[in-house]
Amino acid sequence: MSERSDGRPHILLVEDNATIRDAFCLLLTESGYEMSCASCGEEALQSLRETVPDLILMDLGLPDIPGLELTRRLKEDEATRDIPVVAITGRAQEADERACRAAGCAAHIAKPVNSRDLLEMIPAFIENG
Ligand code: MN
Repeated sequence: MSERSDGRPHILLVEDNATIRDAFCLLLTESGYEMSCASCGEEALQSLRETVPDLILMDLGLPDIPGLELTRRLKEDEATRDIPVVAITGRAQEADERACRAAGCAAHIAKPVNSRDLLEMIPAFIENG
């Protein structure tokens, strides 16, 4: 039975750290979002073939496909190019921010991610998406 079309905004979280992934999946589910979670780039691509989310939260350090490369691929694909991508990065220097923008990210958020900051920033991307 599908739980997909109940009107809740849908977020794909791509994060290889299971502790962080589980914590944010739980937090965002409890905050009213429908969640898909992927632990690597290939899992993210598989999820995107099945359903198109309203927002992608993208860890940049993934074991298979670097997050910025994955973002570039999504921006080249008509099926996924309009989904806003927010990068989650441990390196939030100015050059890293430029690289995020160049790859097509709508924004980035620095690790360690503060739960309240994350919850505050999400609605703007869902509404504008
Ligand atoms: Mn990582």
